Amino acid sequence: MKKEQNKDSKIGIMGGTFDPIHYGHLVAAEGARHHFGLDVVVFVPAARPPHKGMREITDPAHRLNMSVLATASNPNFEVSDIEIKRRGTSFTIDTVNYFHQTWPQSAIYFITGADAVLEILTWRRVNELLDLCSFIAATRPGYRLENLAGSLNGLPPGYIDKISVMEVPALAISSTDIRDRVRREMPVKYLLPEEVENYIYEKGLYLD
Ligand code: NAP
Repeated sequence: MKKEQNKDSKIGIMGGTFDPIHYGHLVAAEGARHHFGLDVVVFVPAARPPHKGMREITDPAHRLNMSVLATASNPNFEVSDIEIKRRGTSFTIDTVNYFHQTWPQSAIYFITGADAVLEILTWRRVNELLDLCSFIAATRPGYRLENLAGSLNGLPPGYIDKISVMEVPALAISSTDIRDRVRREMPVKYLLPEEVENYIYEKGLYLD
């Protein structure tokens, strides 16, 4: 994004591991763009998300390349390597701070999966984060909203209104399932853009 533009604009930051990016993510981003009137949605693949367990995540360069391939055809989508360049654990507060400082007039919306938002009380400097941006929690069909409501109870008054929930039926697709399918030589066609599918096979990702 150009620094001189976007005064008073609305910026969506799509945060995730994107291992790999799939149509669920793209539909969620486009839905958020439309519903919240966002001018742009910037996909920010995490270098190392804070709450990851033992699973080895794919090289950030591959996840970045797949994000670029997947979003190239949408003029309202961009990809940022800010977290990958920063290396180490990717704390959302650092990313949102960067966007806020670069585009101080803009309203920022951080979009991610509801299961990640569920743990927001444990995120680094969560109050400051919610002062700087709104959250859009994308849920899969059948998601139990009371899970989210329960975990947000501990937020200070006023902050809860800064978190919106958006049901995204296409999020029935999941990165975990795609990795598993590739490993088992099952088809992944129509679950993710063809360019990303080809990239996965060319680079031999998710085989073990
Ligand atoms: P995750 O555990 O990999 O994902 C949790 C769930 O949300 C999964 O079902 C995942 O589905 C879905 N999901 C992830 N990103 C999504 C997106 N952008 N749109 C729709 N669904 C999405 O989550 P994560 O990648 O570790 O964390 C998500 C984001 O929150 C990252 O940007 C991460 O840096 C941030 N985060 C920050 C902190 C912190 O600052 N302390 C702590 C935790 C997370 P798929 O597997 O299909 O994507």
